Amino acid sequence: MKNKLGRYVDKSYICTEKGVVMNFKSLQHLLDYFKDEKTGVKYYEKLRWNGNPICPHCKSDKPYIVTTGYKCSNNKCYKKFTVKVGTIFECSKIPFRIWFAVIYLCTTNKKGMSSHFVARTLGIEQKTAWYVLQRIRIMLRAQMPELIGTAENFAVEIDETFVGGKSKNKHTKKKRSNIHPHLLNDGSPYKPKNIVVAAIQRNGLVRAEVIKDRKEESLKPFIDKYIPVGTIVNTDDHHSYSNLKNNYQHSTVNHSAKEYVNGSCHTNTVENFFSHFKRMLHGTHHRVSDIHLQHYVDEFTVRFNNRNLPISLAFEKTVANAEGNALCKNITHGYKVYLKTKKGK
Ligand SMILES: [Zn+2]
Repeated sequence: MKNKLGRYVDKSYICTEKGVVMNFKSLQHLLDYFKDEKTGVKYYEKLRWNGNPICPHCKSDKPYIVTTGYKCSNNKCYKKFTVKVGTIFECSKIPFRIWFAVIYLCTTNKKGMSSHFVARTLGIEQKTAWYVLQRIRIMLRAQMPELIGTAENFAVEIDETFVGGKSKNKHTKKKRSNIHPHLLNDGSPYKPKNIVVAAIQRNGLVRAEVIKDRKEESLKPFIDKYIPVGTIVNTDDHHSYSNLKNNYQHSTVNHSAKEYVNGSCHTNTVENFFSHFKRMLHGTHHRVSDIHLQHYVDEFTVRFNNRNLPISLAFEKTVANAEGNALCKNITHGYKVYLKTKKGK
């Protein structure tokens, strides 16, 4: 049952849009239930197809049952498939028991989990745990809201934050040179901190992206894409937001004059989001590489958006949306490109 704000208020609610499956109360309950692979396949078939298998290659809905799974009855397709095809579980030898346990931990732990923690908890290798977590993060991106600010009369707050270590804590060699601002003291190129921008509707959903700088031309595409014209928008007094008044009901708080609330205008909700996000980065992961930062942002954002759901429903919602292409080669592609450019230098 939902209240006016679209939040689930009835904690006994265990239905997904595709039907009731299981109300897992703890990790132990989940691990006890998925005692073999057959149970996992049966559970995921119920959740994905609700008892009516569909060919992932041609969408034909009457396949034959064969020993390994299904075979399409469409004579132009005629391919064999299992419930894993077309999902993040494809081409993976890891049993459903482990996959579901990681997804359960990932949806319930507010500050996220490191691959080392998952490896220790479930008795798998750290590399395996990293791939499983990374595939889950890529899948979660598809669950990000497409529009922020669809509910009327609730302001959307936009702000950006810097991600990275403080300069005062760096070794002298790694500090920015006073003579050449584009170099470090050891002569290597200076790299500015990463920036994450977020838009959150009060009492609603959030969307966050990594952007290259705080200039108007970098912020505008994000705002135009995810916030409908005419929405009430609250920001700080940063000059990149000065043209928002043309399309939005824009009001600001002057943080540089230590003004944090101006009537109903403030950015405290989005500051709260960043506060929790940074606690995840500092407390759990300690350091996140630049090329994977967006994946961590996606993971945290989806968990933040599901914060009012009961645990079992958040878990089933995530598993039910596990379709998508997140194969190993796609996950490591960015890292291989990064290594090549590093070698080239
Ligand atoms: Zn087919």
